[in-house]
Amino acid sequence: MNLHLLPPEIEKAHGDFAGHLEACADLDAVMRLKGAYLGRDGSFAARMIDILKAAPKEQKRELGAAINALKNKWEESLKARQSALEELRRQRAAQAQSWDATLPPPLPPRGALHPLTRLIDRLVGIFRPLGYHVEEGPEAETEAHNFDGLNIPEDHPARGSADTFYFKDHPKMLLRTHTSPVQVRVLKRLAPVIEQKGGVRFLAPGRVYRKDEIDPTHSPMFHQVEGMLVGRGIGMHHLKGTLDYAIKALFGPDAATRFRPSYFPFVEPGCEVDARCPLCGGAGCRVCKGAGWVEILGAGLVHPDVLKFAGIDSDTWSGFAFGMGIERIAMMVSQTPDLRLFFENDQRFLAAMGGLD
Ligand SMILES: [Zn+2]
Repeated sequence: MNLHLLPPEIEKAHGDFAGHLEACADLDAVMRLKGAYLGRDGSFAARMIDILKAAPKEQKRELGAAINALKNKWEESLKARQSALEELRRQRAAQAQSWDATLPPPLPPRGALHPLTRLIDRLVGIFRPLGYHVEEGPEAETEAHNFDGLNIPEDHPARGSADTFYFKDHPKMLLRTHTSPVQVRVLKRLAPVIEQKGGVRFLAPGRVYRKDEIDPTHSPMFHQVEGMLVGRGIGMHHLKGTLDYAIKALFGPDAATRFRPSYFPFVEPGCEVDARCPLCGGAGCRVCKGAGWVEILGAGLVHPDVLKFAGIDSDTWSGFAFGMGIERIAMMVSQTPDLRLFFENDQRFLAAMGGLD
């Protein structure tokens, strides 16, 4: 809080506030203190509004922010004290085994969307203005969609039963190991009409499964968001522009991106994309392990074989695709060291997460 713009009397009032609040022995005293600090007339809040009105124009913005921050702080502290006193009263009443009809009833906890769901919704919201819609695919997939259609060779280790959950009675069926099979499904579906549609673009969020032991950074089930765009003359520059826009929308206008060459069978060329660490701004911290950069996603230009498999002419059409791990980004943004917290449904954790938005 920027208190230096406010006169000493307000600074002093703020300094005294905690002591006054602590001294409030009952709810009436809290209400009186609230009147003195935040009331309509004669309060410090009213005084600050007069100061704001009188302030020179160029100071108003910063001053307004400081005043709001101060008022919010007082308001929150008053509320907390009020709740504590109410709780005390409730406990005393319970101890006395008496029934106090004047006590407010305890409110049932209010539900909210899971933090991972909110992060997915936010990503969808970032891409929607660019014309992307949401596609979904089944979690029980065929080998053809999960591997063959994505140009993943027969002997690729990801196909092994050590990494992938196969169905016992259906050896060609598996739990999808990534959201990329949605690419194959959508391309196949839209191949006959791609000319009329002028291309394809979509986002595919969903659950994926891998045979990983559960530990602070691994889970056999996690979430990805896949993105794909196919059009005429699509190149690396379109991919870079799109991802740069998305990462700035996610982490703020100062976020920077870095593209490193990498290999995935379904793209050529392929890359991994880092964002400048949103927590330390690149100086190096625990989250980025001192590197100043964090890996956000894998991406690349759609491999011609992927287009051909879906029945799309790869001489006419080209595109890019990207995929990101949602838990990974959520852990980074919220500085949560343990992935398992997102799945344990401990309401204290979920409430503390607030919004990842
Ligand atoms: Zn960092």
